[in-house]
Amino acid sequence: MLPGAHTHMASMKLKPGVVTGTALQELFAYCKESKCALPAVNVIGSHTANAALQAAREAKAPIIIQLSQSGAQFYAGKFLDNSAQQASIAGSIAGALHVRTLAAVYGVPVVLHTDHCAAKLLPWVDGVLTAGEEYFAKNGEPLFSSHMLDLSEEPLEHNLEICRKYLTRMAKLKMTLEIELGVTGGEEDGVDNSGVDASKLYTSPSDVLRAYDVLNPVGAFTVAASFGNTHGVYAPGNVKLKPPILDESQKFVEKERKTGPKPLDFVFHGGSGSTPEEITEAVSYGVIKMNIDTDTQWAFTQQIKKFMDEKSAYLQSQLGNPEGPTKPNKKVIDPRGWLHLGEKGQAARLVQAFKDLGAFGKFEF
Ligand SMILES: [Zn+2]
Repeated sequence: MLPGAHTHMASMKLKPGVVTGTALQELFAYCKESKCALPAVNVIGSHTANAALQAAREAKAPIIIQLSQSGAQFYAGKFLDNSAQQASIAGSIAGALHVRTLAAVYGVPVVLHTDHCAAKLLPWVDGVLTAGEEYFAKNGEPLFSSHMLDLSEEPLEHNLEICRKYLTRMAKLKMTLEIELGVTGGEEDGVDNSGVDASKLYTSPSDVLRAYDVLNPVGAFTVAASFGNTHGVYAPGNVKLKPPILDESQKFVEKERKTGPKPLDFVFHGGSGSTPEEITEAVSYGVIKMNIDTDTQWAFTQQIKKFMDEKSAYLQSQLGNPEGPTKPNKKVIDPRGWLHLGEKGQAARLVQAFKDLGAFGKFEF
């Protein structure tokens, strides 16, 4: 990892706006050094994006804002044809420009990322990268900080070969690549692993070393390794979380390749529903990013459900409520009222995530 003056400071100083290139590597190095990780929240439109920016402001920490392929499609509007990923590409660009415009106004640093991209969705990332190359030519920095490729369904060597190809293209834009090794349980973005054999749910340290050997010479990368984590929240059951797998992988690469301690930046997928103790342990082994989606979806929806239940008698027609048959309901009907409750619910849940991940108040900007 990069040395740099930041690592021994009590808190890291950052500029508002999107963090890219070597600044992102320094941020991840600081996270490992100070044993904290950043929440990565999936956004699907301006409301969820703005709630994420507000959470970063309240937590005084940078936030990772990410778009999945289906989230980006939703950002563009589900009205559009997406047969060639055109809506997902346009939605990703729109989301990135939205966040870039408002991050400065909210005064917060943001890491802009795209989430899971399985083999069949690669045309989506291809299109976003083409836009990223145009953006880089004009602005000298990439549109997104990083992209993720999830080729964990493919054999290891095929996974890493595709990742190497993409990282070669992305390194020219000073971008970081997130990869996935091993199978994360549950169901996400159309990939259903809920019935997979339990032994496959744990990544081996030798696979992590292989990824290091293939990708480290090419550019900056992070690894989503499976250690019994599950996409989505399910009743506790057959799969046990084993964070020490991350520790063993770090130590194996350190020993075999004679690196410094914790040579890898790990990503915790399927963080929703984990206990604070499990999160703290994973972070201590070099997790610098934890994805959070289901928990924030619930936080958003829960507040709106509460409102709809409480105001039900005011939501039966435009006129007429318990106060009188011709009383207007305009104030209750206005979506700005209840959508903002959802935004506040999501922001509050993300502030909790910053605390769970040890990142609350560890930065200055
Ligand atoms: Zn994953």
